[in-house]
Amino acid sequence: MSGIKTRIVCTIGPASWDPQVVKGMIDEGMNVVRGNGAFADTDELDKVAKLVRDVSDDVALMIDVKGPEIRLNKFPEPIAIKPGDEIIIGNSENDDIYPANYPNLSEYIENGQRIIMGDGDAELVVKNVKEGKMYCEVVCGERIKPGQGVNVPGCNYSNEVLTEKDKENLKHAINTGWDLVSASFIRNAESAKYINEFIGDSQMKLIAKIEDEEGINNIDEILPEVAGIMIARGGLGVELGLSKIPMVQQKLLKRMNIAGLPVITATQMLESMTNNPRPTRAEATDVANAIVQGTDAVMLSGESAMGKYPVESVRVLAEIAKEAEESIEPKLIHGKAEAPLTTDAIAKAAAEVCNSMKEDLDSVIVVSKTGTTSRLIARHNIRQPIYVFTSSGTYKRGLMTSQGITKAFVFEGMDQKDCRYDRDCGIRTILEMALKEGIVQKGQKILFLGKTPIDKVEYFPNLFEIIRI
Ligand code: PGA
Ligand code: MN
Repeated sequence: MSGIKTRIVCTIGPASWDPQVVKGMIDEGMNVVRGNGAFADTDELDKVAKLVRDVSDDVALMIDVKGPEIRLNKFPEPIAIKPGDEIIIGNSENDDIYPANYPNLSEYIENGQRIIMGDGDAELVVKNVKEGKMYCEVVCGERIKPGQGVNVPGCNYSNEVLTEKDKENLKHAINTGWDLVSASFIRNAESAKYINEFIGDSQMKLIAKIEDEEGINNIDEILPEVAGIMIARGGLGVELGLSKIPMVQQKLLKRMNIAGLPVITATQMLESMTNNPRPTRAEATDVANAIVQGTDAVMLSGESAMGKYPVESVRVLAEIAKEAEESIEPKLIHGKAEAPLTTDAIAKAAAEVCNSMKEDLDSVIVVSKTGTTSRLIARHNIRQPIYVFTSSGTYKRGLMTSQGITKAFVFEGMDQKDCRYDRDCGIRTILEMALKEGIVQKGQKILFLGKTPIDKVEYFPNLFEIIRI
């Protein structure tokens, strides 16, 4: 199923490393594939990219880098635990359990430190630290799983934004045409800038994962540095406590809608579908609420990476999104967007035209170098489909985290068509492409928005026309 406005991001893993499964997920509406940088090496990234690109050029590839996120080693079987048990977390491969990417973690740990496994599946407390090993007591939980994430709330063990493994993966992802990077624990502008410097001139875009209180408090300084955020409810739940999540989510969604930047709501959206073919009522409601509150995208984690029902999970998200979207009325969003003022104002005017003309206007066509103009129109939830022509595949796929864009295309540039500076020729060329793609029909009325020449950098939309085709 597709035809929905909400974007679907899926973490890929063993459950979805299969051409049929990937195709199934794409057919059901997956827009972005997230490769998990915690475990993936460059061969795995290549494998994932090939699986996706063999089916579609529209799906965005997003590499997730972990920075200070701690992961356990991959021991053979989950370890059963019960409250009161002693668990020893070691510091090397000779130990059964140890923090694989931060083996020297114990140097920063004091007695009494809480250690949270997974997204809160288990909690331990450190009783003693001796010769690099942490002797812990189980507070709650039933098992510790191989490769699980670990949080040590309040402990300042690292300010690393990218680990060496992250750097290697990210460099490879940039060189092989991945479209987005989602970075864990972005806490301030500085950490976002650090990653942007690493990305350099590449067209890859940064999605900041907001996972703790610092990230929330510094959101205003983070936004100018990023292309969007993820509400990382896994990290947030552990750092802030579960009861804080619902209102933090609502606040961040509101903030992002005003900023006009895409936001992904993540973690445990359909958790029970890891093992069951249907979600719980609470999960269905959670997904719908996130959409009604203004999320651009919803994300699957274990459901699609390790679960039994990756394709069904995508279908369920799309079905819930379809129902939820029907209740969203078009409405202009005001406030200061993270975008050039002129572009935002023109986008608002376009949305107002669409809302006023209603069924009298069939669709909107936007020529937008990086996609910003189209994104800023789409955020007002207009009823008409929005088609956008961007200047590159990466920019086209970069829009896959933004809700409401019906389809994006690549338009190589007007210079190749001899109409670089000729506005009528520019419009005609795009309309010919649109007719050929079947997105418009003769006799329809459209709003045409864009700029000629498309490839000029500092240039605002200079075309705003209602055209009868
Ligand atoms: P993760 O991030 O799945 O990479 O941990 C998302 C989250 O923390 O919610
Ligand atoms: Mn996380």
